[in-house]
Amino acid sequence: MPDPVKVAISDLVRDERLRFRDTYSSSLAETVERYAEAMVDYGTTWGEFPPLVAVWLTEPHEWAEEVPDGDGRYAKLTRLPKSYPANALILAEGFTRCAAADVAGVVSAPAVIHPGTWADAERLAWGANSRHGRPRSSAETARVLDSILSRPEYRAATGSELAKLACCSKATANRHRKARNEKLSTSAPDGVGSVPETPGVATAASAPVDARGYAIPPRLHAHFAGVPAARRLTGQLRDTAAKLSKLANVGGREVHPSFALVDVEAAVADVLKAVAWVESMLPAESCRSCHGDGCVSCDHRGYLTAAAAR
Ligand SMILES: [Zn+2]
Repeated sequence: MPDPVKVAISDLVRDERLRFRDTYSSSLAETVERYAEAMVDYGTTWGEFPPLVAVWLTEPHEWAEEVPDGDGRYAKLTRLPKSYPANALILAEGFTRCAAADVAGVVSAPAVIHPGTWADAERLAWGANSRHGRPRSSAETARVLDSILSRPEYRAATGSELAKLACCSKATANRHRKARNEKLSTSAPDGVGSVPETPGVATAASAPVDARGYAIPPRLHAHFAGVPAARRLTGQLRDTAAKLSKLANVGGREVHPSFALVDVEAAVADVLKAVAWVESMLPAESCRSCHGDGCVSCDHRGYLTAAAAR
């Protein structure tokens, strides 16, 4: 393993696809706070924390990201081409420590840098948090295994190969693959469970389902297609709001005088209000009265928003 070198934390690309922590858990927020306080105690430095692990891209990484088209109804997804250039520094391990550094105002950290590709960054990220830091929860390990199994080259991997990549036990890897295969072959794609029969609506085994678990009529598919991406965005906004209020509370006001100029609590409350409003306006259920044709009870939309479904 190469020796750690000092890097500016702002130079690291933090890509959520390489982060397998449950970012909305309160215990993670507590860990960030605890690490941040330790960094402040070290004199606002990285202190004794283990070095980060990053990949220095030897070739560009290109992919497409699906985003809601922004017409306000999340009617369809647009595929946006994205890329990282060669020489980008991709964080593979240490997201929680970097979040703590943001809170504490620490700007540089030691990092072990591996020259490599995006695939190398993924492999390093799959094994992250297995050696130190807060132990991974079973849900977090499951996310790692899902990420590995979504790669065509690892679909036929043996239990022990999977266990090695995910740094988990062979039993966990095998159990996860079995459950995943059963889910993929018998139920809806997002794992909501089996699709109940709805009168007058064809229920293909692979049909997407709404919040109640009912198949979504094909004419409504476009309306529901953007919901997962919108939920990811609102989740990220919640995350940002939480970081902002922490930044202001853990010594932020002293370190960054500009915080005194902004009413952070009010700003965060506004962001959370907006997030809640967006979430309440997302399509939640296909209309039980008209099955998507449009009627008075669904305001001729064919579906009910989360707010209307409550
Ligand atoms: Zn209706």
